[in-house]
Amino acid sequence: MIEIESVTKQYNNVTAVDHVNLVIRQGEIFGIIGYSGAGKSTLLRCLNLLERPTEGKILIDGKDLTSLSDREVRKERQKIGMIFQHFHLISSKTVFENVAFSLKAAGKTKEEIKKRVPELLEMVGLSDRSSHYPAQLSGGQKQRVGIARALANDPKVLLCDEATSALDPTTTKSILQLLKKINETLGITIVLITHEMEVVQDICHRVAVMENGKVVEVADVYDIFANP
Ligand code: ADP
Ligand code: ADP
Repeated sequence: MIEIESVTKQYNNVTAVDHVNLVIRQGEIFGIIGYSGAGKSTLLRCLNLLERPTEGKILIDGKDLTSLSDREVRKERQKIGMIFQHFHLISSKTVFENVAFSLKAAGKTKEEIKKRVPELLEMVGLSDRSSHYPAQLSGGQKQRVGIARALANDPKVLLCDEATSALDPTTTKSILQLLKKINETLGITIVLITHEMEVVQDICHRVAVMENGKVVEVADVYDIFANP
């Protein structure tokens, strides 16, 4: 469903992503692991078209994202949800308003927003925090708001940028379980980048290893951790 074909991203004289080829299947949880500077975030930003690749193609369901106009890109981007290490919530808005914001941006009516936001908050276990502000929430709760916002417009793909790196181990486990539940119940494809093997081991089906901008290995997680 996501085809990355010979994608390269160059910044002046730095090749952040170097001729990466990957096929990510519909419905899988796909991890991209590697040390800091390996090119993981750049590749993820190319997937969301926050960056245009210098070379190569990215196809989602056969549609080449790299050939779209800026306007078409904004529309396609609504089909992709993204969550971040530091959550990127709007601090002056309540939980409800943070989630409502992406629905408004997609042109949903007030009635649709009033129905949809509580559904989303229930899915992430935050029904009782609707009127709180981000500063009143724990890290795990903030990430749950981030997840609700990312899912607001029914994306086909959820991209996770070091989504648990700012969280303690127990909270990390609960966020990973939530991502797994979302993958299983909604069938959403999840692509996550991380520098932590435990994250890959806990929820990924397959993993790609990046080094110096290149994918050096792709493996089934089950095969890596299977005890014979
Ligand atoms: P990772 O996410 O694996 O830590 P990044 O994608 O952030 O790796 O970075 C890969 C390489 O690209 C690094 O050498 C980094 O310094 C460089 N890089 C990333 N973003 C930029 C940018 N906006 N301008 C210049 N160089 C960048
Ligand atoms: P606007 O900027 O048009 O006032 P808002 O994003 O503030 O829109 O709110 C959208 C709708 O959701 C409004 O009708 C508002 O009353 C309602 N709403 C806002 N916050 C909450 C909340 N915490 N719980 C239930 N409904 C809310």
